[in-house]
Amino acid sequence: MGKEKMRQTFEKFPEEATCPICGKNTDKECALVPIYGTGDGRIIASQPVHVECLLNGVMYYRDYDAIAANAPHGEK
Ligand SMILES: [Zn+2]
Repeated sequence: MGKEKMRQTFEKFPEEATCPICGKNTDKECALVPIYGTGDGRIIASQPVHVECLLNGVMYYRDYDAIAANAPHGEK
């Protein structure tokens, strides 16, 4: 993975996109999150996600060393 500046936040949410966490495209601040499996070593596709949804929905999976949003917070 390169060090290109991918992670930025934007004031406006793209009209044609849908936040994968809340399922809406409310016009709020968003961040571009790289999409796993779409990178070619130089560029990677990214998905707009509300910053608020990211912060409210994020969970760290210590056993897998992974962070996920839109994740179940409770027990199975
Ligand atoms: Zn959202």
